[in-house]
Amino acid sequence: MATKAQKQHYDKLSRLGCILCLHLGLGTTQPEIHHIRRFGGKRDNAEVIGLCPEHHRGNTGVHGLGRKRFETRYGIDEETLRSQTMELINGLNR
Ligand SMILES: [Zn+2]
Ligand SMILES: [Zn+2]
Repeated sequence: MATKAQKQHYDKLSRLGCILCLHLGLGTTQPEIHHIRRFGGKRDNAEVIGLCPEHHRGNTGVHGLGRKRFETRYGIDEETLRSQTMELINGLNR
């Protein structure tokens, strides 16, 4: 079950759109929630980013390519996408 805080966070993620599409200048696309896997860390709101279906599960997406090839292809890593997401979401709160 998602907590209320998680639901609000997911709502902001979906308003933001796919963080990779934003990075690539493709505009706002309806995202899916992607959980960033970290060793030993528990999942929380800081560990999720929005990715459109193609950039999430598609052939050019993080699951389709695998994280390493995805990061090489787009020249950006999950950690950077995550921190950009958090900055943009903090901007939405203002
Ligand atoms: Zn995308
Ligand atoms: Zn995912």
